[in-house]
Amino acid sequence: MKITSVEPFILHVPLNRSSISDSTHSITHWGVVGVRIGTDDGTFGYGFTGTHAHLASDRLVTSCISGSYAELLLGEDALDTTRLWMKLARFPAVQWVGRAGITQIALAAVDIALWDLRAKHAGQPLWAHLGGATSPRLEAYNTDIGWLSIPTAQLVEGSVRAVEVDGYRRLKLKVGSPDIGTDLGRIEAVRQAVGPDVTIAVDGNGKWDLPTCLRFCRRAEALDVFWFEEPLWYDDVAGHAALARATAIPVALGEQLYTADAFNAFMEAGAVHYVQPDVTRLGGISEYVTVAESAWSKRLPVVPHVGDMGQIHVHLALWHPATTMLEYIPWIMDCFEEPIAVTDGAYERPQQPGASTTPTKDAMERYGRPLG
Ligand code: MG
Repeated sequence: MKITSVEPFILHVPLNRSSISDSTHSITHWGVVGVRIGTDDGTFGYGFTGTHAHLASDRLVTSCISGSYAELLLGEDALDTTRLWMKLARFPAVQWVGRAGITQIALAAVDIALWDLRAKHAGQPLWAHLGGATSPRLEAYNTDIGWLSIPTAQLVEGSVRAVEVDGYRRLKLKVGSPDIGTDLGRIEAVRQAVGPDVTIAVDGNGKWDLPTCLRFCRRAEALDVFWFEEPLWYDDVAGHAALARATAIPVALGEQLYTADAFNAFMEAGAVHYVQPDVTRLGGISEYVTVAESAWSKRLPVVPHVGDMGQIHVHLALWHPATTMLEYIPWIMDCFEEPIAVTDGAYERPQQPGASTTPTKDAMERYGRPLG
């Protein structure tokens, strides 16, 4: 199954509202930046990463794929997934300028496309191809109700609807306001509305410093916060370890980390309780598995961040025993031949062969952007 073509693409998909913000980002579209890999038997594999739909930055990713990785892939056997990951990840000229950032994000898109091809070749959905589902019920937690840009009354209304109408038992609210009292008030309002049995996690997106986090946690402990995600700057191992020692609220992080080594540093320092790898940033499924296995060996739960809006992670989460819960943000569902689906607060199992990454023709036409 020889690789005959490597074609990057960029889609900019409008959100389900005009814009959203957390403490550090404000966006109107989600970027689906990826690659279509063709083989001599006529099969195509698709992989992608998730971005903030900034065209100049997205083109850095696609030019890395077409300029650096394509020539390493053409003519190779597409089923040599692990060897090809090694060939790309350890290619000296790319490694010299990479190991994190654009080259790793581009590598993720390529690796996911190769796994999509593998699973299609086997005639199985990826979760089955990897070894079968270990989650009898893969619970979804809802992030889309909790953006910082949503006014408090609407936040409460959306939370109640998610619980009472859509069957969610787990919510996540964004925090990181200039005044911690604002965030505490929002959490308290939601807690009163949904009752004690619904879990409420919070996410600071790396905005606050350690003293602010300590003050926030002292008061938030009374609200039974499920986890505090990215409380501090993304790479600050010592700061997260200090916070984890000082509060009863578990620490969650990982969406901005690029390597298994970075995850190991946090895990070994006792700086993380919920491990949140993102396959679309980590260099793909090959490196994701290394992180998940490392967390599993330390008996830490893995709850992926969904830069792919769950399309690929649903497979990894169903399969890997360290994961029983997955984030839900329904922004790009209408772009794929087999969109993710949540019923009564739980993910459905994809049925089609592959990694659920094949975009529809309509999505390619409607949301496609020129590569430059
Ligand atoms: Mg987050």
